[in-house]
Parts: sequence; C-alpha cells; structure tokens
Amino acid sequence: MLSILESILSQPTAPFHEYYVRDEIVRIFADSEFVTVTEDAYGNLIARYSFGESKTPAWAFGSHMDHPGWVRDVAGSVEPAVEQTHRRRGGFTFLGGVPADYFSGEPAIEEFGDFAMWDLPAFKHEDGIIHGRACDDLAGCAAIISTLKELEEQKVAATCYGLFTRAEEVGFNGAIELARNWPLEIDVTFVSIETSIATAKCKMGDGPMCRVGDRMTIFDSDTTSAMMQIAEDEGIPAQRALLDLGSCEATAMQAFGITSAGISLPLGNYHNCAPDNRIEAEFIAEKDYVSLVRLMTALVKKHPEGIENPGADLRKKLEDRVQRHATYADATAARFGEILA
Ligand SMILES: [Zn+2]
Repeated sequence: MLSILESILSQPTAPFHEYYVRDEIVRIFADSEFVTVTEDAYGNLIARYSFGESKTPAWAFGSHMDHPGWVRDVAGSVEPAVEQTHRRRGGFTFLGGVPADYFSGEPAIEEFGDFAMWDLPAFKHEDGIIHGRACDDLAGCAAIISTLKELEEQKVAATCYGLFTRAEEVGFNGAIELARNWPLEIDVTFVSIETSIATAKCKMGDGPMCRVGDRMTIFDSDTTSAMMQIAEDEGIPAQRALLDLGSCEATAMQAFGITSAGISLPLGNYHNCAPDNRIEAEFIAEKDYVSLVRLMTALVKKHPEGIENPGADLRKKLEDRVQRHATYADATAARFGEILA
C-alpha cells in the first residue's frame, strides 16, 4: 500500500498536466490480471476491475490527478481571473485555490517542462505521517489503486471502477466530461475519494471522513449510511461529517445526474498552505489512509451490486426500539383510538 502511495505521490502534476500521474497509474496496473485501463477522449483514466461470474457493477471510485500548480502560458490562456500579478511568474500562471498572501514571499518552484510545482519534497514518511507535495488528490488516486489491487488479491467477485480525472482544481473539468459522456452503467454510484480539511468534530488519525456533503450539495444518504455501517461492523475507524470548507467532484457529478457520495482523508496544510502564510508539504495520517483502503474494499465486498435494501439496517434499529416499548403502548391502548371511531 505504501509503495503505491510513494510511487504516485512522487509524480509531478498540475492542472491539465496530469500525464506523469496517468503514466504511473497505467504502469502499476500493467501486470494486473483483473484490471483493465482505458482512457476517454478527454484523457480521464477508467480502470475496470472485474472478477468472477458477471455481477452488475455498483461503484466507481473517483479521484483527480492534478494539484494546484504553475502552468506554462499558452497564447490566449490568461483569463481575467488569473490576471492577478501574484499568480504570474516567468511565463507560468498559477492555477488552483491558494490565497494571495501565500505568494508574497515568492516561494521557490521546481519546473517540469511545461509546468512547475512548489519546490517541496514529493514524499516523506515519518512517525505515521505521510508528507507530500501533492497529497490532494494523489493520495486519493493511490488509495483507489490499492483498493482495486486488494480486491484482485482477495479475488472478490465483483465489477467496479476507478476513475482518475483531469483538471479538478480549476473547476472539475475532467469529472464534468465524464458525467456528460458517462461511460459506465447508468446505476453506478460515483464515490469521490478526496483529501480535505477536517471540520466540526473530525480529527486527523480518527479515520477517513464519510462525507455527507460539501460546500455546495449533499450526497447520497444510503451510500453514506452503508459505509458507516460497514465501518462499524468491520471495526474500521471512520468519521461522518459535512465537509463544507470546500467542494469536490461528487457535486459536479451530481449536477450532471450521477448519484454520488464521498470519502475524504483528513488533510493538513491544505493546498500547501501552512500557518503564517508559508508554503509547505501537505500531510495525512498513515492509519487514516490504510483505513480508507479497507473501507473502500469492504464496501465492494459487502455490496458488490449496490445496496440491495437501502435503509433496512436503520428500519430494523427503529423497529426494535418500538418493540422494546410495546408494553407501555399496550397498557395505554384502551385510552386511544376512540375519537375517530
Ligand atoms: Zn484541491
């Protein structure tokens, strides 16, 4: 799991320049017996895991291959929104959400041909914490790869997908292309795998956050409930939260009609923004990452063809409680039910 994480986090990337990450994902799956990888016309990658007798696919885990960064100007590329001088440097424009104050010290950058990133270590694993130049969302990509590999290793009878998208940081471009030309079965639920600032009662180290929604919309309740139930049953640490400090690809997918849910890893130094306006590596907790892969794997194992009877567990719990108070209801029954008779 950690070697896949390291190999993906080590790839440089920026909005529209996701080819190094794309190539690494293709390379990792090259020896997979049950995973095939294709590309759509926009360059989003579609990994399809399939083993065993044919099952109706229910799940597509999605993450984006870009990260905020410096992109070489092309003729006519500078839109009004990025005509802010702090976002321009030596023929590059910065694409992605980083507040102006972080640019004032002109932090060093590292060039990779037609794009550049902040000059930060790509991957460092220390005391259970993974530091990365671009955890958002390369950690999500790595988690999806590991999940499909895990399903393959356990020979889980299911068909499911990993979607790896382009240019999320500028406005979900890749996800929108996918949603508009949805290449999968229509009933497949999209599960956005992200890294996010922990909000409310969530804490780094307490598990992946099953996301009931983001800053813009709320997500599929049945999927979120099923994930929390699985976490409880399997003893996988997980948290449930409305993560409304940002938005994610689930909102874009839903806007175009695809049922969506989301899981996020608690992220430190979101978009490389550290305290005191310093640019630093992002970080995640190793155990949250491992729990995320376990949770995704368990979701496919438990519900390979989707949630058969949505709400059944909750109804059972509620009915049990009604039953436990039945004697009180019986004892007072004679006093009710007369008025309408
Ligand atoms: Zn981001």
